[in-house]
Amino acid sequence: MSSDFPPYPSGLRLAGRRVLVVGGGNVAQRRVPQLIAVGADVHVVSPVVTPAIEGLVGSGEVTWHERVFADDDLDGAWYVIAVTDDRAVNDHISALCEAARVFCVRSDDATLGTAWTPAIGREAGLTIAVVGNRDPRRSTTVRDEIVAGLRDGSIAAPHHRERTPGVVLVGGGPGDPELISIKGRKALMEADVVVADRLAPRELLGDLPADVELVDVAKLPRGRSALQEEINRVIVERALEGKRVVRFKGGDNFVFGRGFEEIEACREAGVPVTIIPGLTSPVSVPGIAGIPVTHRGVTHEFTVVSGHLPPDHPESLVNYEALARMQGTVVLMMGVENAPRIAAALIAGGRPAGTPVAIVCDGTMPTQRTVLATLGDIGERIEAEDVRPPAIIVIGEVVRVAHPQAFAASSTR
Ligand code: SAH
Repeated sequence: MSSDFPPYPSGLRLAGRRVLVVGGGNVAQRRVPQLIAVGADVHVVSPVVTPAIEGLVGSGEVTWHERVFADDDLDGAWYVIAVTDDRAVNDHISALCEAARVFCVRSDDATLGTAWTPAIGREAGLTIAVVGNRDPRRSTTVRDEIVAGLRDGSIAAPHHRERTPGVVLVGGGPGDPELISIKGRKALMEADVVVADRLAPRELLGDLPADVELVDVAKLPRGRSALQEEINRVIVERALEGKRVVRFKGGDNFVFGRGFEEIEACREAGVPVTIIPGLTSPVSVPGIAGIPVTHRGVTHEFTVVSGHLPPDHPESLVNYEALARMQGTVVLMMGVENAPRIAAALIAGGRPAGTPVAIVCDGTMPTQRTVLATLGDIGERIEAEDVRPPAIIVIGEVVRVAHPQAFAASSTR
């Protein structure tokens, strides 16, 4: 066998076929999920395996033979991956494979194997495999670039993409354009029509192909119908015209996003709907500001509340007395305006006035900032710091955990 020649690429169809992985360490851990993803009947032979592989054994996705390699392990195998940390064992396995004419990948010295594992990507119904000449970093970089090109349409022309009509609810995440999911971004790039909110990550809209119709919800004309009815009407109408419509929102469409009303409207009209969740701001915005919404030994709950109505409002559906009696984190959304009244209700119900508060404005955006306060002085702080929406207000001891210096143990700042 000569290593001077390049490899001959081939797409192996391994579904239901026995693949033997000898070794249970980190290399095996990287290969096994890829084999599971293509439906292979994966057998791992190793006295020990990593916890991740053990998890896959527990869920029945791989078979683990908890022992050292035996020659007859090869029986019936279509493909072998020899990744033990013992070179002699790998030598032995690849020699057996050579004799049996079974292709064998080697981790310790790729040139001694009869097959190489490519950097794998899947996008737009294609499998991309890049086989590097012993330069794995370069292969993964090239793979990433190809996948990104397919995803943003700069590689395959847009009309090659297959589009099925319907509505896709895409959660765009808290604002940073890189915090959308891969699936969400893909749906966006495949849309014929994008109906976008003010809080949806705007920068992503700049990447849309030129022929995509962009409907800005803030500019929708309103006649006799309310804005939400108008949105429902537009998405249903476009989908019925045979278009692929993305309803693009900040965070997650179901967290104060009226996403389900849109689903109901689509269902009524017989329009198929797909849901792509987004990173929701009540968790991700405190997170990016370094504030955990839960912390072991500090809080066993967090409650997400819309503060768009004050506590005494007849239409308020929030039980502030109950919330005040609870001990956990309160994450207040849409609450800048009503924060002082909400804080007063929480204090009246029993939360200490010194309870730490963090107001995170413009989370994940270049203008992000955190204003610290307490329940007692939140109104003054909002005014002094000129806090404006969008902001997430985190109330509770987790704020002290994140900012121990700002909040001395005495519960006063
Ligand atoms: N569907 C969205 C929330 C919509 S309600 C989600 O899942 O995140 C709008 C409120 O979300 C704002 O008033 C603010 O409280 C919060 N919010 C959304 N994005 C934010 C951000 N980047 N920074 C701070 N608050 C944000």
